[in-house]
Amino acid sequence: MEIDYEKIGLKVGLEIHQQLNTPAKLFCKCKPELFKEEPEITFLRRLRPTQSELGQIDPAAYFEFQKGVKILYEANRATSCLVEMDEEPPHQLNMDAIETVLTAALMMKAKPVDEIHVMRKTVIDGSNTTGFQRTCVIALNGEIKVGEKTVPIQHTSLEEDAARKTGEDETNVIRYRIDRLGIPLIEIATAPVINSPKEAQEVALAIGRILRATGKVMRGLGTIRQDLNISIPNGALVEIKGVQELELISLAVEYEARRQLNLIKISEELKKSGVEPEDIKEEFFDVTDVFKQTKCKVIRKALDKNQKVSAVKLSKFQGYLKRELLPNFRLGTEMADRARFWGRVGGIFHTDEMPAYGVTVEEVEALRSAVKAQEGTAVVFVADSAENVKEALKAVVERAREAIGGVPEETRAANPDGTTRYMRPRPGAARMYPETDIPPTIITENFVKKVSLNLPEPSEQKLGRLTKEYKLNEKLAKQIIDSEYGDVFETIVKESEVSPTTVAAFLTETLKALKRDGVQVENVSENQLKEIFKSVGSGDVTKEALPEIVSWLSKHENKSLQNAISSLGLEMLSKEELEKIIDNVIDANRDAVGNLGKNAFGMIMGMVMKEVRGKANAQLVSRLIKKALERQK
Ligand SMILES: [Zn+2]
Repeated sequence: MEIDYEKIGLKVGLEIHQQLNTPAKLFCKCKPELFKEEPEITFLRRLRPTQSELGQIDPAAYFEFQKGVKILYEANRATSCLVEMDEEPPHQLNMDAIETVLTAALMMKAKPVDEIHVMRKTVIDGSNTTGFQRTCVIALNGEIKVGEKTVPIQHTSLEEDAARKTGEDETNVIRYRIDRLGIPLIEIATAPVINSPKEAQEVALAIGRILRATGKVMRGLGTIRQDLNISIPNGALVEIKGVQELELISLAVEYEARRQLNLIKISEELKKSGVEPEDIKEEFFDVTDVFKQTKCKVIRKALDKNQKVSAVKLSKFQGYLKRELLPNFRLGTEMADRARFWGRVGGIFHTDEMPAYGVTVEEVEALRSAVKAQEGTAVVFVADSAENVKEALKAVVERAREAIGGVPEETRAANPDGTTRYMRPRPGAARMYPETDIPPTIITENFVKKVSLNLPEPSEQKLGRLTKEYKLNEKLAKQIIDSEYGDVFETIVKESEVSPTTVAAFLTETLKALKRDGVQVENVSENQLKEIFKSVGSGDVTKEALPEIVSWLSKHENKSLQNAISSLGLEMLSKEELEKIIDNVIDANRDAVGNLGKNAFGMIMGMVMKEVRGKANAQLVSRLIKKALERQK
């Protein structure tokens, strides 16, 4: 069913974060790089209930703290120092990073602040060793044009990236790697004036073009993260964190609108049935006995560990837990998410999906009668330790009560398929407080002037130039601008003798296709790309061999083009070797060649190229075949 987004009053705001490609991190001189090897240093910290100076404690943080969650941080010396470990105060702000953010801000006609004040933003999950993230506003009140619409840019800021999670085990230890911590991020926040999924995607694309135009942003998966604030009247403001692919934005917005519309409908129906939030009680039943003989593997496993099965009744909820909010995503899915988050259980069972998973009709009957469930009541049950079960069912009760009210305000995390999962309750307003370790940085008029005189070419102008200067067709020129290779394209064309269209098509369509096939093309550096094309230009590598070489290099970091060529057997054949192959092919097809006469060329060319593709220049092959056929007469 199509949604009329105007009619439902959809409002979306975007927050775009992208890593900046600076020589050092934001508050120290460490390299802004991720490492893959085993960590040289690890240290364990207890997660503390981070508290702002105003005395508020985040409930989710406090909950984790109570459970005794510990964080194991992993580090190496090249990518982190005492600053990331929170053993030393941060150094001065990185001026390269400020300049890049200012450049983007001025391209969006924003007004720079006079003084940069670093602020602390409470972070609850251990992804920052300090318990907060440092952030500072660089400019305010910009705007961009997207089609006919002017989209206000509320602020353009500079932030430190967080540590990245590398694992979590059952003993309440979460692992984070601090190589990413402190990498500078630009943050661009639009006003919530976007009214459709398509428009959200277009705005993100326009901002992405500005970021790439600075020539100072990182590329590859994980370097850009988009947060979406989505609301509809009667629904709620929901924040979706971490959409990594631009192409997913419109789908994520559409799904969230659908999710909210379906939750509103469920709430209306529940209200009509007369059920009130107070009717859903935190009354938990021990139903372990019901499942004594069960064939359900999950429950069996729990019982073997001496754990419990507990159940809760959700009055009037029968049928609603299986109600789809999105394809294959139900109200029951949301309850399970909450149970997993707060109770650390693997999942929940509920009567809407029974019998299933080895639970029999008889067991369901026994369960319903053990908890005295009336007609219309749904029963949710969980098998785990007594403590986890209790927290999980409490979370289910809370989610059920919210379902009667409508859509809960919450922060959700983006899944790779465009759906989202519960992340945490929405934090309250006052999460920011001043960073006292860093004095304000003045943005002088001279600095602003210098940056504004050197602003990069706007993308519309670049589009015109690319079509004129390099004779690219408009589609290809647009693709180059929207790709991560806009700058390197021009350098490659200037340095190699390869036609601009070939270079552009490779950097856009071919690389995209390779990415789709799972090749991590971002592992191949710009310098390597330049070198490869130089070799194509000089005839040492054929352009047919490009995809093979790039995928080999992506899997063998720190190896050279020469390594790729010899390892793939792509050394070019000598003229003598080619002549021999051609003679052999002609010999083997002597009869056909005789019959076809002059027309044999196409056939022989096809056969020879099949054998030498990637190892010989097609023009040379064609010349040699013609000569050889001449000799046959
Ligand atoms: Zn450092």
